[in-house]
Amino acid sequence: MEILITNDDGIYAEGIAALAAALKKMGNVTVVAPDTQRSAVGHAITLADPLRVNEARRNGNFFGYATSGTPADCVKLAIKTLMKKKPDLVVSGINLGANTGYNILYSGTVSGATEGALLGIPSLAVSLDTFVRPDFSAAAAFSAKIAAAMKKHRLPAGTLLNVNVPAIPASKIKGARVTNQSRTSFNDWFDMRKDPRGQIYYWMDGDFKPKDSDTSSDLNAVRAGYISITPIQFDLTDYKFITELENWKI
Ligand code: MN
Repeated sequence: MEILITNDDGIYAEGIAALAAALKKMGNVTVVAPDTQRSAVGHAITLADPLRVNEARRNGNFFGYATSGTPADCVKLAIKTLMKKKPDLVVSGINLGANTGYNILYSGTVSGATEGALLGIPSLAVSLDTFVRPDFSAAAAFSAKIAAAMKKHRLPAGTLLNVNVPAIPASKIKGARVTNQSRTSFNDWFDMRKDPRGQIYYWMDGDFKPKDSDTSSDLNAVRAGYISITPIQFDLTDYKFITELENWKI
């Protein structure tokens, strides 16, 4: 199996190394990832600037290709140019921080996998629900498990899997649940500051502690100690509303 790995935390992040190590047992792994932190770039691609590609090393060994692009750029570039063979699987992660609810819209991690799905390849995004002292081992082991399932079964065209793993010891994880996307988002605010020349600037901050009454959501599965697996797609059409909108007779 040819496996393409990317992320949005950058090629030197700990999560992508854990993922690559786990998936190496399943096939030939190619890592193509941003050369710096690219979290929350969503599905951005780079048009006005060239894309630079450099070999990245870890512990003195070749690890993968570091690019100046976004996760979506990385997947496009890998599939269209860098890889000799088209991958059988694209995996993005393991992200530092959950990608549940509306956060997936901003997520570079999910967009790496979305790009894979748009290019017709079975794709998976994996995130760990913490920003501090991450232990990626359970999430890495589960990535290999779900990759095996994706090899055995078929995803519908345009559908990818978004996986979120609770940041608790592997022995405490209660299992995996298939979920839907929660309708919750970050509570954002802006810190207003002054630069050394007296100019005002703003810095976004926020927290993610929403109430969610939807018991089948990705957010509540992770909160309850389950690994959440959500099938997601990027046809954004609101089919339920089409007939009513037609009746507007615009
Ligand atoms: Mn990230």
